[in-house]
Amino acid sequence: MRQFLKLLFRNRLAGLGAIVLGAIVLLVLVTPLLPLPDPNATATGDRFLRPFSAGHLLGTDHLGRDLLARLLYGTRLSLAVGLAAALIAATIGSAIGILAGYFGGRLDNVVMRGVDMLMAFPYILLALAIVAALGPGLLNALIAVAAVNIPFFARNIRGVTVGLAGREFVDAAKLAGMGSGRIVMVEILPNVLPTIVIAMSTTVGWMILETAGLSFLGLGSQPPQADLGSMLGEARAALISAPHTSVVPGVMIFLIVMSVNLLGDGIRDALDPRLKSGALSRPRATTAVDRKGPVPETPQQGLLDLQELQTQFHVGERIYRAVGGVSLHVKPGECLGIIGESGSGKSVTALSVMGLVASPPGVVTGGAVKYDGEDLLSADYKSLRRKRGENVAYIFQDPLATLHPLYRVGDQLAEAIRVHHRVSDAEAKRRGLELLRSVRIPNPESRMRNYPHEMSGGMRQRVGIAMALANDPDVIIADEPTTALDVTVQAQILSMLDDLRRERGLAIVFITHDFGVVAQLCDRVAVMYAGRIVEEGMTREVLEHPLHPYTSRLIACVPELGGGRRKLEAIPGLPPPVDKLPPGCAFAPRCPKAQPECQKGEIALFTKEERAVRCLYPEETFLEEEMADARLAGE
Ligand code: ADP
Ligand code: MG
Repeated sequence: MRQFLKLLFRNRLAGLGAIVLGAIVLLVLVTPLLPLPDPNATATGDRFLRPFSAGHLLGTDHLGRDLLARLLYGTRLSLAVGLAAALIAATIGSAIGILAGYFGGRLDNVVMRGVDMLMAFPYILLALAIVAALGPGLLNALIAVAAVNIPFFARNIRGVTVGLAGREFVDAAKLAGMGSGRIVMVEILPNVLPTIVIAMSTTVGWMILETAGLSFLGLGSQPPQADLGSMLGEARAALISAPHTSVVPGVMIFLIVMSVNLLGDGIRDALDPRLKSGALSRPRATTAVDRKGPVPETPQQGLLDLQELQTQFHVGERIYRAVGGVSLHVKPGECLGIIGESGSGKSVTALSVMGLVASPPGVVTGGAVKYDGEDLLSADYKSLRRKRGENVAYIFQDPLATLHPLYRVGDQLAEAIRVHHRVSDAEAKRRGLELLRSVRIPNPESRMRNYPHEMSGGMRQRVGIAMALANDPDVIIADEPTTALDVTVQAQILSMLDDLRRERGLAIVFITHDFGVVAQLCDRVAVMYAGRIVEEGMTREVLEHPLHPYTSRLIACVPELGGGRRKLEAIPGLPPPVDKLPPGCAFAPRCPKAQPECQKGEIALFTKEERAVRCLYPEETFLEEEMADARLAGE
């Protein structure tokens, strides 16, 4: 709740709306206690007194009634009627929507066609017809306004419910033996509640206006009772001679509707779970860069060079250190593997390269990403955008999520090409066809016309690879591209990537949590843990002689086919949450060899030729002496 209020008030306009509305509500709540004259007492001698006359702060109307008293009592009535109408419409409409959406079938058909019929009428006309049938009066106006708004709620909520009714957690509840009534109350209702609140907060202003409209026409509140609409209606005749009589209720209607709508928009934004973690804005086109230190001046080591890269997520007060000083490089034609448990920061590292980490909340707080010597973090957006896809391309884990579901794959390939090259549509299609052929998709001509859902997972991933290759990049960053695939397809994709690297001299950064894949494809491998590189080296050496206890534990977790019966050792415990990293080695709490020093302070990466390890007690003991010497020399 506190977080909700904080989010709400971060939106200045919503805060303003809340304050104005709060003041109005407070005022009308205490109205009966205020020393006001009777709002309905007429005094024909005091007709049309101007505002600020003695005893009548806002003046009087055509019957000499005190405008301030009428305004406050009228606002009270209008607010109450509008709110009641909104509550009634929301309750009935949502109930209809949930039932129709959840049970579907014939019930849905019959109910929703009825709702459609109601919606087919212009709704002020419908309200007028209802009041005409029931007879004028405030209660009937309330019924009419509520009735015409029911279809709006029913439609909205039905749509949300249909989406929920087919979800796995509802199936799971059914499997657990829950009855329909319980499922609706426990599984569905909490999920549609935010939508109901949002729909209400954005319509309540309308309903107040509609009630006022009916009263204005004389169909709502009956004289002498005042509400905002009837006050306006009565003042109409004296619009020129005594404008204050219409301005007073008019300004109040304006204030109420304005503040309700501003507040409603704020509530909608604050309740949207997608907006909760970030600010109330869309992510920026590139990751925010706020480097505390200088840009590292380390000489170029590879085509793509990450130097002491630090990427954090700033969520409220919390700081998640997802990437805490990562240095990596990859040369043309080389394949670098990045391996680590889920949550170790592999994806964030990869996305930081091209500024693809969503900001907010992501911020690059230090280091550099150099492509061919040029720092990408300080590059302007235009040149960065040109490099995306053309110099560095990505392959993501889930091609179903990265391909657009509504476009044919051929069109998507052609689009990727035309973003970077001025070629005709036909030429782009021709190149797309060639690409599909090069990733060994059978029947590429007919596959061009397929939608993503018409392909198998392996086929889609090939399309993903074809798209990455579309502009002949020099570096491909593949983020677990085969994790979702079965082993045979995985093997095909890996051998294809390997061929491409040899044919085109591609540099590949291959992210995975599978040592088998690393052994098959990568020349070098870097092991990540809690946002840092803990070990690096040539793949064979790392696999045969792991130096960091974490690496050797990871390797021990891999089952070996035909390797006889061996006890698979799970690593006890979990990786630390990156917003509460312990000092020193993050693996120490899970490490069998940990000593008190391990948790004291920063542990440097010890580098020797191609190998690097961040550990005080590495698996090969001869290193310990060398490391001690290096430390002494460093001091
Ligand atoms: P993986 O190695 O599995 O690819 P990620 O790079 O996706 O891991 O995530 C690294 C860490 O960053 C995780 O601990 C994750 O909780 C954190 N993280 C990722 N995205 C966000 C975010 N938007 N807000 C807060 N923390 C995040
Ligand atoms: Mg990942």
